[in-house]
Amino acid sequence: MIEADIDLQPHNTLAIPAQSAHFARVRTLDQLREALAFALRRRLPILPLGGGSNIVLTGDFPGLAIQLDLRGLSLKSEDLGHTVSAAAGENWHQLVMTTVKKGLGGLENLALIPGKVGAAPIQNIGAYGIELRDRFSSLQAMEIASGEIHTFDTGDCAFAYRDSVFKGSLRDQYIITQVSLVLPGKWQPYIGYPALREYLQKRNWDRAALTPALVARAVSDIRNSKLPLPEIIPNAGSFFKNPVVDTVCYESLKVAHPDLVAFAAGDRWKLAAAWLIDRAGWRGARRNAVGVHDSQALVLVNPGRGSGDELTGLAEEIAADVRAKFGVSLEPEPRYYP
Ligand code: FAD
Ligand code: NAP
Repeated sequence: MIEADIDLQPHNTLAIPAQSAHFARVRTLDQLREALAFALRRRLPILPLGGGSNIVLTGDFPGLAIQLDLRGLSLKSEDLGHTVSAAAGENWHQLVMTTVKKGLGGLENLALIPGKVGAAPIQNIGAYGIELRDRFSSLQAMEIASGEIHTFDTGDCAFAYRDSVFKGSLRDQYIITQVSLVLPGKWQPYIGYPALREYLQKRNWDRAALTPALVARAVSDIRNSKLPLPEIIPNAGSFFKNPVVDTVCYESLKVAHPDLVAFAAGDRWKLAAAWLIDRAGWRGARRNAVGVHDSQALVLVNPGRGSGDELTGLAEEIAADVRAKFGVSLEPEPRYYP
């Protein structure tokens, strides 16, 4: 079951060439337990792998990469809502479309996010104003040290903006095996984002006539028009999180740059990282094999299949320039391995 020296290039959407010393594809909880025991016996680091759309391989991985291929989906409808449970290896977008095709609303704004269900809680995936935590019920995860399955509810997961307990205090301690979501019994579309509103207005789609399927189509059309397909231009989506700053910082930037794109986030301000990078002059830039996408400055691309070092070098250059020009720090969103 455990293979040696496996090429991870097909397993990451940035198409970075790197080898994993060991690799296992697991389809059952028992196989997962066996793979973890193998790694623990040899004191190997573990890389849980979904679709590889939010990782940066900075070199060969000296441990065990575990591809989670646990499958299964169930749906239970009650008056107050619908419970959807999916195993970690299910494709996220297919899960969204399964619910939407049944006429169930709640996940449509999260259509076309690449990757697997098991990774969705890790950074509390979000798009067009909806985050996983808005629909989350609970998850099951295997503790790496013991092989035991534990259940986590919303409070346990400490979800925040592109963040959860699994990126913080419980980092590298659990493998998520199943996620349960609750979709509202009475659906209301959320179409607050300007791109979504404009799309609907252009087509004269009346709010009252909207269905989850129509919103999913709108989201998919907008994403397809803006974002590079990883199969054609390798990328990991947004490379940096949108920085959240205090009011003093926001107001001084707004005075210097009246067209700054920013949104209130409680008593702080979320700045559009894409605007900062674009305004710093990086959109469309190239550095040998790697570069910045020409229609979305937040997306770093790897058309020349360059190394992780090339990509992280470019990311550092961009972050340093944005810091110098705006006094704002950018934090990468994907996780670096090893
Ligand atoms: P991977 O990249 O395989 O893993 C990501 C991290 O989670 C790694 O640290 C990995 O070890 C860990 N992990 C994976 N599975 C498990 C598991 N079962 N248990 C424990 N740890 C695990 N993200 C958004 O939030 N919103 C978007 O709109 C969005 N759009 C994107 C568009 C594009 C074109 C691309 C390429 C990416 C986009 N992303 C977006 C980022 C990414 O798709 C999400 O973060 C997604 O959830 C990652 O899923 P994955 O299966 O590919 O995870
Ligand atoms: P966009 O619609 O051009 O918006 C630019 C930025 O402004 C986004 O980052 C978004 O923040 C913010 N924003 C826009 N309207 C907002 C509102 N009404 N309230 C609060 N914030 C608002 O962004 P885009 O790049 O085309 O992406 C569209 C959506 O898909 C966004 O939600 C984005 O996060 C998501 N996406 C994520 C990834 C990823 O890899 N993480 C990749 C592609 C797209 P938020 O990012 O906080 O929503």
